[in-house]
Order: sequence, then C-alpha cells, then structure tokens
Amino acid sequence: MTLATTQDMLKKAQLERFSVVGFAAYNLETVQTLVATAERLRAPLMIQTTPGTIDHAGIEYLSAIVNIAARKATIPVALHLDHGESMERVRACLAHGYTSIMIDGSHLPYEENVGLVKEVVAMAHREDVGVEAELGRIGGVEDELSVDEREARYTDPDMAQDFVARTGIDSLAIAIGTAHGMYKGEPQLDLDLLSTISQRVSIPLVLHGASGLPDALIRETIRRGIAKMNIATELKIPFAEGLRAYLHDHPDESDPRKYFRQAQQAYGAVVEEKIRLAGAQGRY
Ligand SMILES: [Zn+2]
Repeated sequence: MTLATTQDMLKKAQLERFSVVGFAAYNLETVQTLVATAERLRAPLMIQTTPGTIDHAGIEYLSAIVNIAARKATIPVALHLDHGESMERVRACLAHGYTSIMIDGSHLPYEENVGLVKEVVAMAHREDVGVEAELGRIGGVEDELSVDEREARYTDPDMAQDFVARTGIDSLAIAIGTAHGMYKGEPQLDLDLLSTISQRVSIPLVLHGASGLPDALIRETIRRGIAKMNIATELKIPFAEGLRAYLHDHPDESDPRKYFRQAQQAYGAVVEEKIRLAGAQGRY
C-alpha cells in the first residue's frame, strides 16, 4: 500500500476504543522491525520521527525507507512528524511525503499557539494530511518541576474546546501528568481531567510520555478516550541493551548484519507488547 494518512486510523481507534501506537524509529533496522511486527499482528502503524531524528538520518532517507516499507505492507503505515517545531519543518515533511504532522506550539503563549497551528492545518489539509497539536505542556525528565508548576501545565478543558474549534486540528495531545522519558516515581495521572476533556472535545486524544506507565493505567486512559499513544524511550532501551549484550558476548563480531539482530529482537518484543496493550492487534 502507499503511505496511509491517519485521520481514519485514529477515528476508528476512537470509535472501537483501542489506541493506535506511534513508535519512534531511527534507522532502517527500527523501521523494518516496526513494520514486520505490526504486519504480523494486523495492527495500524504510525512511524514517528522527531526533528532530531530527521536531522540525524536525513529526511530523504527516512521518507524513502518508510515509503518502501509501507508499499510492501498490507496494514496501514503512516509517516508522522513528532514535535514539529516550525513551518519550515512542516513544509519539508509534506514535500517529502509525510502523511501525518504534529506541530508543537505548546511553549508559545496561547494565541500564538493557535495562530501557528491554524497555519499548519491549512497547509497540511491541502494535502489531506492530518494535524496533531499539543495544549498544556508535557514535561520532560530533565525538568525539575515542583507540583505547583506541573499543575499549571495541565491541559485546561475550556481551552481545549476553544483550541480544537479554532484550529481545526485532527487530534489533540494533552497534558494530564505524563512526562517524556522514564518515570522515577509512580506517575500520577489526572484521569478525571482526561474524562472531562474527552467529553468536551470530539477529536481523538493523544497521550505523550506513555513509556513506563503501568499497563493498567494505560488501559484506563484508553477507556477514557486516548486513541493514540507515543512510545519512544521504552524502545531505545531494549535496542541498546540488545546491542550491548550481543557485542559483550561476541567481542570479535564486526558484521552489522549480525550485531543488530539481537537489538531488533529486543525492540520488536516491546513493540508487540505495546500493540497488544493498546488493543491495536487484529484491527486490519
Ligand atoms: Zn511527545
């Protein structure tokens, strides 16, 4: 198939109460593992690249690799820009065939965020590409925030309703207490806030920072309206561990066709686990 757009994929997830999983990919080996695993499980797949990954690998390489992967697949595969930071970035991704865009203006004052997102929506919708935007701020592990500061970053339901209506976005990333990276303590999510936003906003909701959340908590967020979740950190760790273990056991091995294999297996095992946890298997 050709690369899939994500509007229908996410609406189906919202309707059938499962979650699409957006997986971070970095190179040929991670893309191959993602597609093979999603294909075997009959799950929809969003392959996500951040601006950092695009700058590392090159947009032409990423686009070409994922396009070929999608063409060979019989499940829908989308190529998504994660945390797009500028109009230039969005323009480049659309020009290279990305089928899904996140624009992150969550650091901007509200009206500026609305303005930026509206502009991106107008540009992306001309190509029938859906847009995800973020409201509230999802923290990172390096942020040393006090609870009060964290509270201030949670998504406001009134604002969410206004934001969706004025921007015309297709999905909304919300801040309900998740953070990027792994959690040090027990993560505290505001599930009532999620339910409230879900009642006020009709488009699919997105959970960032899902790495390291307990399974039961993830299932509860899906029950309350999360239709897409992002997994990045939890994939990097098994890939690196698989690679490290292999090279430790085979200190003389220098063939990348061999030493990536264990890393791919470890990465693939987590991909499968997350697809099943999201209830995304057997949907296509
Ligand atoms: Zn994120």
